[in-house]
Amino acid sequence: MMNLAVIGTGYVGLVSGVCLASKGHKVTCFDINEINIGKLDQGICHIYEDGLEDLLASSKKNINFRLLTDKNEKKLLDFDAIIVAVGTPTINGNSDLSQIKSVAHMMGRLIKSSQKYISIIIKSTVLPGTTDTFFKNIVEAESGKRVGEFGLGMNPEFLREGNAIEDFQYPDRIVFGFEDKKTLEILRLIYEPWDCEKIEVNTRSAEMLKYVNNALLATLISTINEYSNIARSIENIDFKKVMRGVHLDNRWSPIDDCGQKVFPKVIDYLKPGCGYGGSCFPKDVLAISALAKEIGSSSNILSAVIEVNNRQPEVMMEILNKASDDIKNKRVLMLGLAFKPDTDDVRESVSLKLLKLLSGKVDNLVAHDPIAIDNAILELGQLDDVHFSTEWKNKIEDSDIIIICTNWNEYSELAAMKDLLKGKIVFDTRSLLSGIDVSDFQYLTVN
Ligand code: NAD
Repeated sequence: MMNLAVIGTGYVGLVSGVCLASKGHKVTCFDINEINIGKLDQGICHIYEDGLEDLLASSKKNINFRLLTDKNEKKLLDFDAIIVAVGTPTINGNSDLSQIKSVAHMMGRLIKSSQKYISIIIKSTVLPGTTDTFFKNIVEAESGKRVGEFGLGMNPEFLREGNAIEDFQYPDRIVFGFEDKKTLEILRLIYEPWDCEKIEVNTRSAEMLKYVNNALLATLISTINEYSNIARSIENIDFKKVMRGVHLDNRWSPIDDCGQKVFPKVIDYLKPGCGYGGSCFPKDVLAISALAKEIGSSSNILSAVIEVNNRQPEVMMEILNKASDDIKNKRVLMLGLAFKPDTDDVRESVSLKLLKLLSGKVDNLVAHDPIAIDNAILELGQLDDVHFSTEWKNKIEDSDIIIICTNWNEYSELAAMKDLLKGKIVFDTRSLLSGIDVSDFQYLTVN
């Protein structure tokens, strides 16, 4: 059992903290946001993730989970390892390391006054070279000590919001990036209860692995969106059947030992849609692309991935305008604000981009989401003509166009509401209702 601190209690830090505690480690979660720490202390999660509050409650009951703010930062020296899970957004397309930098200064200050060996493990997504140069240099300069006197590691996180606890508890692999052998030993001990392949590399390889993983998935999404856009311009192409034929290639969908065709999860990234959003893909693709340019390496594919994705909300508008001759007189109902289902996260959500494009151009604009309305209002700022609603079924009748932008499971109930949909346009940007009888209304997809 290890004594661990996790710095940053956002989607990654909080989930990591409670999951590590659930395996028997003593975990203290640390954040500069005193309001959120106060809520957590009362058992209330400031973010939505299925099962998180229950796990928080049981961790607190087992007294192996504690909370800390920067008022007591000196207590961070009591731990075997510090896991850093602060945010790494992009500003103007470049990675913003201000949160990482302030943690590096704090750790340097603390280590200076201590004789104890402590390992600092970066879990935030940071560009290759950040841990072993940027972070290390600050800690060494501030503390007057060298790596070896303190430990340094990099343990990228692959959890997906909406499925975060399961992803953390049953990962596909765990990556141990390390700059010193003691930190590697600590990483092995932390993750001893996890039974999956563990990849041991230096910190910059661990950092690169995370970016290649995300950028490759984003590349698949933009590639298929581009092919679908080309097909739509050629006209009279059944792109859904085209993609069915592609998916059946046994290099995408092999036949298993029982002779059954298997459609792996990657097929979901090979379907056209409204583009990728969220807290990771957009910023990670931008950041690795900016790094490539800075070091003089080519990044043509990454630039194209970004360009196609940036344009995709406008492509959605083009599809809508083509189908509706008189959009300025239409009442629009937007279903979904979160960037994906089962989360309240709206960062880089395509729904919000579409709302901005629709604002001022239609007669009435109503937006629904089961849990992300508050975050959407914060993110969107003032859009006078967007009305938010916590109900959606009773808004159908008074709408001319219904746009499904987040594939929340509850929206699939539209399939059973055919009578209400008569004469309306349903724009299913996520192909949620595939197979539905669309004889009474106009059904649009990105296919
Ligand atoms: P987040 O913005 O939800 O949370 C960051 C937290 O760090 C906030 O609570 C903030 O108050 C805290 N913080 C900032 N500066 C601090 C400091 N100096 N000391 C203590 N706390 C501080 O971020 P997130 O979505 O959890 O992402 C964290 C990192 O994990 C990012 O690098 C992200 O790219 C990566 N990641 C995110 C996901 C995801 O799905 N969200 C998945 C994998 C990896």
